[in-house]
Amino acid sequence: MFHYQAPSQLLNDKVILVTGAGDGIGKAAAIQYAKYGATVILLGRTLKKLEAVYDHIEQQGFPQAAIVPLNLDTAAEHDYMELANTLEAEFGQLDGILHNASLLGDRSPIATYDPVLFEQVMRVNVTSQLMLNKALMPLLQKARNASIVFTSSGVGRNAKANWGAYAVSKFATEAMMQLMSSEMAEHSPSIRANAINPGATQTSMRAKAYPDENPDTLATPDDIMPLYLYLMGEDSVEINGQSLNAQ
Ligand code: NDP
Repeated sequence: MFHYQAPSQLLNDKVILVTGAGDGIGKAAAIQYAKYGATVILLGRTLKKLEAVYDHIEQQGFPQAAIVPLNLDTAAEHDYMELANTLEAEFGQLDGILHNASLLGDRSPIATYDPVLFEQVMRVNVTSQLMLNKALMPLLQKARNASIVFTSSGVGRNAKANWGAYAVSKFATEAMMQLMSSEMAEHSPSIRANAINPGATQTSMRAKAYPDENPDTLATPDDIMPLYLYLMGEDSVEINGQSLNAQ
């Protein structure tokens, strides 16, 4: 496990957007970011789940969160611009984005992969990152130091049989991170970009990918949070363009 003990005020006064914040790793990250002082913008497609995370953050006495219901499969450019305008009006800046939402798609051979599903997985897992980064760039540029964290996977570095569009999307995510980090270093050095490979983690996506596995043998989303905190806070301000393992 990545070792890092975050100071209790690590994310004070920071505004951080988490995609797929209603479940699994995104939910754990949203709660941890709030616990360490951030105002967290909870983005996801299932309002009920986002409300449950919002309520939990409120009950714990952490900074009040905000909810953005958005389906990354169907969102259009004007939805992303509307999000940017809302965040600009409410918060004036953005200190971090955790690109976490993803679709698993089918575990089937690429030669026979359904092209409609392929495009859907690419839209949710990759195109949405482009749209969010583009719309939110002016807000990220207003932060003293901003961090963009992408979520990769083992099959985003080494594709394996039957991982289909998901593997392609994670390779593309690594490329997106590398492009962003090198371009930011040149044009907006206050913004850094890195990727996390969470490793096998007890979530519903993992259970769908490995239905025969005993989930009790896996790390929980809370176990892998040290790297998520480290990359979002100022202790990692010199880290840019890295692809790191949470476990
Ligand atoms: P989950 O399936 O538990 O969570 C995925 C989240 O993404 C959910 O909140 C889901 O919303 C959201 N989401 C999916 N589609 C959309 C959409 N169209 N619009 C908006 N939100 C959407 O998965 P994990 O927590 O396991 O995965 C988190 C990240 O970690 C992913 O990027 C995954 O690829 C990566 N990862 C996970 C591993 C693991 O072992 N768990 C290993 C390697 C990488 P809803 O709840 O409404 O469906």
